[in-house]
Amino acid sequence: MAASTEQTLPDPDVEDGIKYWASQPASYDGVLGGFGNGTLPRVDALGSRQFLQHLLPELCTVPSAIRPLSAPSATSAPRRPRALDVGAGVGRVTSDVLLHLFADVLLVEPVAPFVAEALRRGRASASLPAGAGASIALDENPMAVPWKGVRARTTSVTFVQATLQEFDPARPSAAPKARVLGRVGYGSAEGGGDGAGGDDLDSGFDVVWCQWCLGALSDPDLVAFFKRSKAALRDPARGLIVVKENLCSETGEPRAVFDESDSSLTRWVRSMSRGTQVLMVGTMQVGPCVEGVV
Ligand code: SAH
Repeated sequence: MAASTEQTLPDPDVEDGIKYWASQPASYDGVLGGFGNGTLPRVDALGSRQFLQHLLPELCTVPSAIRPLSAPSATSAPRRPRALDVGAGVGRVTSDVLLHLFADVLLVEPVAPFVAEALRRGRASASLPAGAGASIALDENPMAVPWKGVRARTTSVTFVQATLQEFDPARPSAAPKARVLGRVGYGSAEGGGDGAGGDDLDSGFDVVWCQWCLGALSDPDLVAFFKRSKAALRDPARGLIVVKENLCSETGEPRAVFDESDSSLTRWVRSMSRGTQVLMVGTMQVGPCVEGVV
């Protein structure tokens, strides 16, 4: 039973959740519950990038004359910043947010058609002819936009099929059912590469990004996942676990809602942060269809 509120709610059922998502189209529209074709993907991705650069200015690729005194200099930043995208669907956050700021991304998704589509998109970017996709119309289908740095092998994405209940960010291939499906870009053996640099699987992360997927975890599973994620942060002083989820209202009841259709919990912000000590900075994005906290 859900432990974070006085309400008696069922725990999410992993298999029911996966069955639901497997019945949805492997597209932006599918992972965004029918909001994939309007402005939401762009507003969401730009907001996320801005939020990350605000928290970790050293990730910004555009040199600035102004830098917080507390920000580490370029030389003290990790050589290849590395991010984890969990419950990653078809790779939307990886392609539209994380690859713009990180050199290496590990993408984790349990639903076979979703992770297969993410891998297909990554491989399509890796095998583009040289120079292709350099100019992209603003109204282009975001699913078709080449992934930043993958063709040039300056960035990489590694694809893992696993649920968050079993996944350990410190050892991505360790869970009995976790499957490492492939890698594209830097360090990949695919496309004639030599595989050099592809040995970073267990090397930890600078940022763990969780978006619109934590409702699939019961409270104890969520706390356990946060603890494993914290243990996998490369630099405990600057590493981040980012949570971007829909929330129940701060005022009144209910403080959590169980959705039978996808067997998930929508939580109240305080029940989300209780006992985990990970909520450092919060922003609210309110739109016609999104109310979230990062
Ligand atoms: N984060 C992505 C996808 C959101 S849709 C994005 O913002 O585009 C919700 C995702 O959670 C789906 O991809 C679904 O398959 C995934 N999911 C469902 N149950 C899960 C579980 N137990 N562990 C990890 N991910 C899960």
